[in-house]
Amino acid sequence: MEHRKLIILGSGPAGYTAAIYAGRANLSPVVYEGIQPGGQLTTTTEIENFPGFPEGIDANELMDNLRSQAERFGTEIRENICVRTDLSAAPYHLWFDNGDEVTCDALIIATGATAKYLGLADEDKYRGQGVSACATCDGFFYRKKVVAVVGGGDTACEEASYLAGLASKVYLIVRKPYLRATQIMQDRVLSNPKIEVLFEHNTVGLYGENGVEGAHVVYRKGEADERRYDLPIDGFFLAIGHKPNSDIFRPWVQTDEAGFIKVEGDSPRTGIPGVFAAGDVADPHYRQGVVAAGSGAKAAIEAERYLASL
Ligand code: NDP
Repeated sequence: MEHRKLIILGSGPAGYTAAIYAGRANLSPVVYEGIQPGGQLTTTTEIENFPGFPEGIDANELMDNLRSQAERFGTEIRENICVRTDLSAAPYHLWFDNGDEVTCDALIIATGATAKYLGLADEDKYRGQGVSACATCDGFFYRKKVVAVVGGGDTACEEASYLAGLASKVYLIVRKPYLRATQIMQDRVLSNPKIEVLFEHNTVGLYGENGVEGAHVVYRKGEADERRYDLPIDGFFLAIGHKPNSDIFRPWVQTDEAGFIKVEGDSPRTGIPGVFAAGDVADPHYRQGVVAAGSGAKAAIEAERYLASL
């Protein structure tokens, strides 16, 4: 069976940054790209808040650059998806979707998180053309336009408040008659004149010729006073939570209720010697590419120290 010093699972900013650092430390890392090659950023279009690109950069170009930079320092990149792990004792054992089995001395988990969508066919149809799950990434494109945010938690309220600073009008589409968000976030949303909360509303579809022009919504679905109508909007933002891609590590590493991997303080250490977590899989709060990149660097530095101590 193949054995490697260091394996990195995931190819978003965390995974590739870890690979750049580990490669420069002569650790010959292998990156497995995983379910979303290039990570979540590739689901958006232009990145304007990644430092170093004053004019912004296309998300795919940014990820291609990170990939090339990792390869330049000797990283081997493989397409496969890890489907099972045994982290009970070193060397750590990984199984892949193509049948490969590989062991490693150190592992960096950078498998990211996946934004939840409602599951409407129209979300796929208009993805990148008015449908987004990241207001910080895409909000800027909706200056002086009308947008809707779906969700009633802290993320939805934060995204709605952020978008209200850019857009001319923000609808917050909430399926229950109340918000789940913390009181301070609720107050912020309810007192913002640009935000209109549509309680007890569900979205059942989107429409538009060239991108989103509106949403088909239902008020009090299934009730006697049910009302269906079309809500004209230019952008449709999902904020109904993220699912960290941590299932295959769960028997071994600790996670919080939502599945985010627990790390020790602000380090990437998981509690298992030589196993580190970086990026969104361990970050319930920030979910930013640059933050993920920083945590990838930390994980590689920790892995290098760990391997040197063996
Ligand atoms: P939450 O799980 O807290 O909220 C998800 C929201 O989306 C809920 O209002 C939920 O509705 C709604 N929702 C879920 N599925 C659907 C669906 N299919 N259709 C319509 N609505 C749906 O997720 P968040 O991402 O908001 O927050 C996650 C955690 O992160 C929380 O603990 C939060 O406090 C924390 N957080 C903290 C922040 C901060 O401190 N600044 C910022 C952002 C997040 P329902 O209520 O009906 O279930």
